[in-house]
Amino acid sequence: MKQEKAIIVFSGGQDSTTCLFWAKERFREIEAVTFDYGQRHSLEIECAKAITEELGIKHHILDMSLLNQLAPNALTREDIQVDDGEEGGLPSTFVPGRNMLFLSFAGVLASQVGAKHIVTGVCETDFSGYPDCRDIFVKSLNVTLNLAMDDTFVVDTPLMWLNKAQTWELADELGALEFVREKTLTCYNGVMADGCGECPACKLRQRGLDEYLSFKKES
Ligand SMILES: [Zn+2]
Repeated sequence: MKQEKAIIVFSGGQDSTTCLFWAKERFREIEAVTFDYGQRHSLEIECAKAITEELGIKHHILDMSLLNQLAPNALTREDIQVDDGEEGGLPSTFVPGRNMLFLSFAGVLASQVGAKHIVTGVCETDFSGYPDCRDIFVKSLNVTLNLAMDDTFVVDTPLMWLNKAQTWELADELGALEFVREKTLTCYNGVMADGCGECPACKLRQRGLDEYLSFKKES
């Protein structure tokens, strides 16, 4: 029997789309939430919208443009030069603790719509360097959300200990490999599916896919 209702933190990328299929198998009802914080490519939001529409999943888009007020920039930090604001693949709007904020807002939304589960595609294996994507933090926030709202939320992290090849394997097991491959956006340059092939996100994604497909051929 399927478990209760879940909210899924959804960006339209490979990881969260795989989580969406994972959640579809497990929960009676799911709703997706996407955070709009002025991503460099509004295509990200469009991509998330298109996927939830195709799968018939209710989609919330929350305005998190306030992150831009907190982002380190030339107006508030004298040591940062005015430029396009892009460096090393991080969005110019990157703020420490961002995932903490996203998960907290997802928790409030879960409370509003009566969802017990909160699903997120964060991962400690391909450690991105964000401390608030680590397992220990997510567990800590889970306790905090429950105390804050006197509830019994469960934060699910199906990808926490998977590498990129194993994430592709999970998508394949869920019957969603082609869907994830063709309809998601991971590329920093805003190119759908297999992407530009040049940026760090594309390289990581492609390496994982190649690794999984060659493993699949051998076995
Ligand atoms: Zn790319």
